Amino acid sequence: MTRHVKSEVGWVLVGFQDDDLVVARRVMQASGAATSVRLDSARILSREEKQGDVVGFWHTHPAGLIRESGQDRETLGAFCRSFGKSLVSIVETDGSASGWVHLPGGSRRPVLRVVRSGSLVLVRLAPER
Ligand SMILES: [Zn+2]
Repeated sequence: MTRHVKSEVGWVLVGFQDDDLVVARRVMQASGAATSVRLDSARILSREEKQGDVVGFWHTHPAGLIRESGQDRETLGAFCRSFGKSLVSIVETDGSASGWVHLPGGSRRPVLRVVRSGSLVLVRLAPER
């Protein structure tokens, strides 16, 4: 039996956060192997240094994997520490999207809602406790 595995696709989310809402566009599309996306770290760092508008990442997973992998959490944690701010991580699979917000201190929590229309993305965060 053959199984068709599509490559993962990822984007950088650029935009802004206002209270518990993140408004972003998906840019810098990158594709990768079946279970990973190759991000251009140098380009992302440069974007953040110049514009300061990187708010997170969006990437697809194979069917059924609606959670972040260990590698995903590691990568997000590294960007958070490097930027000194929180970032959202959206994982899309089977036509739906789930998200987490990673904090510079190393913790993360799920977001309440993710909505996408074309390249525009809205993420509703849980209120700060
Ligand atoms: Zn992943």
